[in-house]
Amino acid sequence: MVEVRERPKTRGEPSEGGTHSIRKIGVIGAGQMGGGIAHVCALAGFQVLLNDIAVERISEGIATISGNLARQVSRQRISDEERQAAIKRINPAPSLDALGDCDLVIEAATENEEVKRKIFGTLCPTLKAGAIIGTSTSSISITRLAAATDRPEHFIGIHFMNPAPLMELVEVIRGIATDDATFGTTKQFIAKLGKQIAVSEDFPAFIVNRILLPMINEAIYTLYEGVGNVEAIDTAMRLGAHHPMGPLELADFIGLDTCLSVMQVLHEGLADSKYRPCPLLVKYVEAGWLGRKTRRGFYDYRGDKPVPTR
Ligand code: NAD
Repeated sequence: MVEVRERPKTRGEPSEGGTHSIRKIGVIGAGQMGGGIAHVCALAGFQVLLNDIAVERISEGIATISGNLARQVSRQRISDEERQAAIKRINPAPSLDALGDCDLVIEAATENEEVKRKIFGTLCPTLKAGAIIGTSTSSISITRLAAATDRPEHFIGIHFMNPAPLMELVEVIRGIATDDATFGTTKQFIAKLGKQIAVSEDFPAFIVNRILLPMINEAIYTLYEGVGNVEAIDTAMRLGAHHPMGPLELADFIGLDTCLSVMQVLHEGLADSKYRPCPLLVKYVEAGWLGRKTRRGFYDYRGDKPVPTR
């Protein structure tokens, strides 16, 4: 048998197969992920159109990006010229019609399959032929979402990590129909953002969240069963396992609605009781305590410093 060894690739060198040319990017959802994705795309030189169903979220999102770029300047990560050029590249798109001439549209709306399906139903008739649609879903089947579009071969999972400007990894997930050109172009695009790739098969929650979310859910069970309080659990995992954030802090950072959705997708998709969402997580979501984004979750963020809520 002849072993074929690949020449090692140098940083920034395009990987195989991309044929689409990407200049203009649409981002749907201007929440924490959509904002972060718009930020990294604009900094890498792409034109970005930012959309959200709630129009005020677009301007809030652009204001947050502007603040985060300024922080990067003050930490000497980027120059002030780069900041100014990046912010000029981001424009609001109050409706999906405005994304018609984008080369790539990245969907980063709420983690809910119905919401995402409706977006694709509205987007596809206005989007130019050949444009790629990516989704930053944390857990939902790429193959099933692709089937809700008119172009499953040009559909792919591009799962950024939170916060997108800081995290090095992007998970890439092909649906059953995703073609090689779309896969290759996506890999080139992510390399241009200066990020690394991990390729995951299309199974519920992919790689990172298949491992991370059951750990967080278990931490919530640990709280629910009274094994430890919020402070003890987070301190234990920060100092005892050297995690940079405790699991309950991290859950608040991700968003408890997103955590619950991912656990539901794992539970339903793999039909294994080990993925049962903790009832306490359900209760927090029902209360509208979604973590940092609503200023209350396992911690209360309304004061000067976060205070545990249990
Ligand atoms: P978020 O709640 O911060 O933002 C979601 C945004 O989507 C909101 O601004 C909302 O108004 C908007 N939206 C809802 N319906 C819409 C529609 N029909 N059209 C346009 N916009 C719509 O949520 P997020 O944390 O940014 O998550 C967004 C996506 O990214 C989800 O699929 C999530 O699973 C994924 N993701 C989240 C994280 C994380 O740590 N939070 C990490 C990676 C990926």
